[in-house]
Amino acid sequence: MKQQDGFFQDDSIRIHKEETNGILEIENDIPFKPHYGNNFMFKFCDGQPQITIGPHWPLSLCVIISIMIGTYFISATIYIKSGIWYSLGSIMSGLILEICFLRVFLKNPGVNFTLTKVVKTEKSCQPCKLEKEQGTYHCYECDICVRGYDHHCPWVGKCIGEGNIMEFQMFLLSFLLFFASNLFLVMI
Ligand SMILES: [Zn+2]
Ligand SMILES: [Zn+2]
Repeated sequence: MKQQDGFFQDDSIRIHKEETNGILEIENDIPFKPHYGNNFMFKFCDGQPQITIGPHWPLSLCVIISIMIGTYFISATIYIKSGIWYSLGSIMSGLILEICFLRVFLKNPGVNFTLTKVVKTEKSCQPCKLEKEQGTYHCYECDICVRGYDHHCPWVGKCIGEGNIMEFQMFLLSFLLFFASNLFLVMI
């Protein structure tokens, strides 16, 4: 028996089918290996990752720490100037901003393995071995296909697609709220 990619060739198809709940269609007896690209994926549900962390996560880590430090200094300034209740408002806006950022940072942008199969058609993506739907785009930073691709955001560390576009818009809103409320609190 010949060993291939850590599996014995005879068992490879069976193993892959078991791993992915049989959602993969395998043609030409080619053992299929899901293409994860440069993303880190966790918490699989029905073969789909619920959590993905992109290749630019160190930049996201800087954003997370910056929000904490920024909130600390701004709320301390407001506390000295106007008292505890005003500084609590500032801390709340920082907390909302942090939660909104973490949501978009963690959520799957639209990586989907349901339609994955070994295909060689015009519309297919060869690295991902995925038959592309309309609106699906292969991101070369993440090296993976994303459904409803919007753009690749280095701050979030990965793509913005149909899976996390709502969270991304909420994050932009929370940033506006953070900026406006703290400006107001500093000025009064
Ligand atoms: Zn692709
Ligand atoms: Zn990307």
